[in-house]
Amino acid sequence: MTTAPGVPTIDDGELVSTNPATGELAGRFPVADPAAVTRAVDRARAATDWWAGLGFASRRTRLLRWRALLANRISELAALSHRETGKPIADAVVEILAAIEHVDWAARNAKRVLRRRRVRSRLVLVEHSAHLEYQPYGVVGVIGPWNYPVLTPVGSLCYALAAGNTVVFKPSEYSPAVGQWLVDSFAEVVPEQPVFRAVHGLGEVGAALCRSGVDKLAFTGSTATAKRVMASCAESLTPVVLEAGGKDAMIVDADADLDAAADACVWGALTNAGQTCIGIERAYVVDAVHDTFVEKVVAKAGRLTVGADDADIGPITMPRQIEVIRQHITDAIDRGGRAVLGGPEAVQPPYVRPTILVEVPEDADAVREETFGPTLTINRVADADEAVARANALPYGLGGSVFGRRRATELAARIRSGMVAVNSTLTFVGMSTLPFGGVGDSGFGRIHGADGLREFARSKAVTRRR
Ligand code: NAP
Repeated sequence: MTTAPGVPTIDDGELVSTNPATGELAGRFPVADPAAVTRAVDRARAATDWWAGLGFASRRTRLLRWRALLANRISELAALSHRETGKPIADAVVEILAAIEHVDWAARNAKRVLRRRRVRSRLVLVEHSAHLEYQPYGVVGVIGPWNYPVLTPVGSLCYALAAGNTVVFKPSEYSPAVGQWLVDSFAEVVPEQPVFRAVHGLGEVGAALCRSGVDKLAFTGSTATAKRVMASCAESLTPVVLEAGGKDAMIVDADADLDAAADACVWGALTNAGQTCIGIERAYVVDAVHDTFVEKVVAKAGRLTVGADDADIGPITMPRQIEVIRQHITDAIDRGGRAVLGGPEAVQPPYVRPTILVEVPEDADAVREETFGPTLTINRVADADEAVARANALPYGLGGSVFGRRRATELAARIRSGMVAVNSTLTFVGMSTLPFGGVGDSGFGRIHGADGLREFARSKAVTRRR
């Protein structure tokens, strides 16, 4: 079997994943056919009574054991993620630390958020009491992407598990080994019943999971697939939470700290080689500080190293995305944009060097569509109000950021998105107390924090005559 590095294949009934830079084998797992997906869901369902019946305290103990395991074996998991996706070890470690924080928070707070509580209402009939309780759905299907193969699924499934559900997980075909590692490590701390299982495949297994009878489906991936997932789940009225694509904007106002803004912009746009749903892909900078800001970003981004192993920016994980990145850069330049760093020649598969584009028309793909590479457009605006209008002009609405002093909070409130950071970027993803999710084409529903726990529990109203 010979295939291009990083392209997942099926070989002898097994899904094979390889490193996108070297072609080194990362994982081999049996492909689940639709019947096997249904069997996995049935087995998870058989474990739901046991897991839900443990109660909050016992689940908390077990989830905290998993948290400790993840922390103790962080180097092993980071090395595997590096081998399978090509991402730098440092990016892998940061991601796992954020995932650990979510496991910790979900474990410690599930009881407080989801416990049964008395409800007082002036409308409650005389001689009646009322209370509210939260019940787990049952089996939650989790479908994940490859770009954050630990944080993204864990950000859903640890909340689902803490709420008392069992989970069947379909990892991305680009990161099955990382997904299986999560499942196997969980089984080490919860060996009694298969409450968290994986099913692997390439092109059909996610769809089969949607049709398998799961009680709730948590999807993270592209907007196009999110629409298919929702259509498929509509057949059985299976509730969904959809975490989809983004095209996040950064606004830089005239009174911003430009060094801090440029640092954050480089991190927000280029970390994980720009393969980040909440990555900064567009910056709108007010005229008075535009040129200085561009200079600073170019200087900082130009110092980043690109390559395998210890470089700041690793290979592009999904080989076919390289053509999308190339097309966005070329199209931007054909339409009158300028590359002030990088450009078409920066695309050298499997790597793409940082590319900063200015004066790109707002209808260019590089401004309107998810590029998912180490590229950034920086466009000049007359003032912060124009910046908000342009930031809000796309159907996406995942995250965003505002740099400035006097008007920053007001501007942040006007960004149409599920999350926004003032004078920082991406910070909301690591704060386990905050909900995570988008609006518009970026999806709906919330993971993380108290809203994330409630996303995986049904509220039930109970009245009782005394
Ligand atoms: P993708 O192509 O949409 O695939 C995601 C998963 O969906 C895969 O596991 C795939 O597995 C499955 N899938 C495909 N077709 C399906 C169908 N009809 N029904 C059910 N499942 C199906 O996304 P990706 O390339 O892995 O990830 C990159 C995208 O994820 C970007 O757009 C990024 O912005 C987004 N993302 C969003 C967030 C967020 O929190 N909002 C976080 C990270 C990434 P099979 O094809 O094998 O079934």
